[in-house]
Amino acid sequence: MARLAGKVAILTGGAGGIGAATAELFAEEGAKVALVDIDATALAEVAARIRAVVPGAEILEIARDVGQEASAATIVAETLSAFGRLDILVNNAGIRSYEPLDEAKAETWQKILSVNLLSYAYLAREALPALRQAGKGAIVNISSTHAFNPRGGMGQYDVAKAGIISMTKTLAFEEADRGVRVNAVCPGLTLTPFHVRRFAPQGKSEQDLRTEKVDHNIQRRWADPREVAWPILWLASDEASFMTASVIMADGGTRV
Ligand code: NAD
Repeated sequence: MARLAGKVAILTGGAGGIGAATAELFAEEGAKVALVDIDATALAEVAARIRAVVPGAEILEIARDVGQEASAATIVAETLSAFGRLDILVNNAGIRSYEPLDEAKAETWQKILSVNLLSYAYLAREALPALRQAGKGAIVNISSTHAFNPRGGMGQYDVAKAGIISMTKTLAFEEADRGVRVNAVCPGLTLTPFHVRRFAPQGKSEQDLRTEKVDHNIQRRWADPREVAWPILWLASDEASFMTASVIMADGGTRV
């Protein structure tokens, strides 16, 4: 039996590396997926690819900026209107900034906190009534190893990722008696198109990155996005029924 048969999920940042891999896995496991991303073109490409590789996949494309508070209610309403229920919310959308804190601009702080932290809170708030009604609702928030191991130079991102851990535990406590589980996954270095683009100017190809030895983790390598999607899938599924307020590190063993 497919792990997510009959379930409906909202997944933000669905056109990115981890989002697309997770959406594909969710579709393989029988979920209907409302895929949300600000990049409508990339979203359409990812949705088309999933429909091509997963026969019968039901993907609803929602091109929306989750950094706007008003988006949360419309994303939930569109999902309920298309699929009639909501069982899972995966808050995954994320952007990076590389401003040392002594140069950090207010505008950047606002953008990072809006997309990486507040969108998670607003979507959870709007999704909770439907998640409670579903009976075994689950929220999975995507944080980062940066929540625990800031390395300097990405302070705004690190603060948002640490905030996600606190929000996850708070929500888990508040929702425990209402049947909604809330957990977080902290990916480590994961080889997504974002990083491929980032390292291209340094002359590194995707294949170079795939084979290079990195210092961040004890496996000394980049993760494939699907390796991060598996723990997200598990936490979202009923197999993880005793998991709430938990944080899973999907990081190859962070080297601190
Ligand atoms: P990515 O850049 O490939 O994907 C992020 C997606 O979010 C993109 O498709 C982007 O268009 C979308 N997005 C950005 N702003 C948005 C907005 N305002 N509204 C809607 N969509 C928006 O990133 P990824 O590497 O797949 O990362 C996914 C999540 O995992 C992020 O939260 C990231 O912080 C986290 N993470 C990634 C890594 C890694 O090494 N890749 C490590 C730790 C944590």
